[in-house]
Amino acid sequence: KPILFSGMQPSSDSLQLGNYIGALSQWTQMQEDYDAFFCVVNLHAITVPQDPADLVARTRRTAAQYIAAGIDPQKSTLFVQSQVPAHAELAWVLNTITGFGEAGRMTQFKDKSQKQGADAASVGLFTYPVLMAADILLYQAASVPVGEDQRQHVELTRDLATRFNSRFGETFVVPEAQISKGTAKVYDLQEPTAKMSKSAETEAGLIKVLDPTNVTKKKIMRAVTDADGEIRFDREAKPGVSNLLTIYSVLSGRTIESVVEEYAGRGYGDLKKGLVEVVEESLAPVRARTEELLADPAELDRLLATAADRANEVANRTLDLVYERIGLIR
Ligand code: ATP
Ligand code: MG
Repeated sequence: KPILFSGMQPSSDSLQLGNYIGALSQWTQMQEDYDAFFCVVNLHAITVPQDPADLVARTRRTAAQYIAAGIDPQKSTLFVQSQVPAHAELAWVLNTITGFGEAGRMTQFKDKSQKQGADAASVGLFTYPVLMAADILLYQAASVPVGEDQRQHVELTRDLATRFNSRFGETFVVPEAQISKGTAKVYDLQEPTAKMSKSAETEAGLIKVLDPTNVTKKKIMRAVTDADGEIRFDREAKPGVSNLLTIYSVLSGRTIESVVEEYAGRGYGDLKKGLVEVVEESLAPVRARTEELLADPAELDRLLATAADRANEVANRTLDLVYERIGLIR
């Protein structure tokens, strides 16, 4: 089977709808056809400040949400990044072949460092994409299912793999980003031109997988729309309504046209009410299953430890080869 790698940061108590639509729901389908590695990337999470006690809890919660959404730990390797030291080790090596200017062109760094203030942003945040390249290349992954916002980082990963291979000899598989059209970017409900993010400063536009029903309902009913009052899809002129339609369409498995047709001539309130139901239908079972899994943290930790053993085995094989190629004594 071809190999797949993907991950999410435990940077919040809950995943958000964009993580679910843009990544997680793709993962559950793809795990059947791939030898899949799904990682909780806690080393990435600490590139911005995290509370230690929260970080531990969020790491388990993120893993639990993967399983609750349908990742099968018997089929896929679901592990925690910090339990596999090779990620940090390969990242160091890749740092040495990454150009400063090249890393400086990454838009996620520009966005996140701007939010933090240039002096507050860490060097770790700057080299985040290099660590991500290490994650992917260690497993010789052919496919990386991510949202649109990670496309540039996968491109950098490809460049680094190609560069390493040509300097030191064939070592890495050059991976490909798998970004599903149309669903690749879910926007913030209050700021529908910015992507939804689980670590957003304000939560009003953020649909969290683990939010209770009444909170989700309130957020959807208050979503920003526009003044013209017509339900139709137009990402430029009507970003708010278009985002609601996209979410409705993916979660219900219907085309945007059919949703538009159903709500033609009706108000935004009706569309939002319908959307609340569609969202709840998808998320409520995930929420319930997550709570069950979290009730038995020992079992969860056992699953993660077993997966980490397998991940370490595969990752170390690649790292051994890398060290040999470069001339580093192992
Ligand atoms: P943070 O705010 O901490 O960066 P995040 O919500 O951006 O959190 P990540 O852990 O950075 O989540 O990314 C996990 C996965 O979810 C990645 O594959 C990313 O591309 C995808 N993703 C994140 N936000 C969205 C979104 N709004 N729409 C679609 N996919 C998304
Ligand atoms: Mg992110």
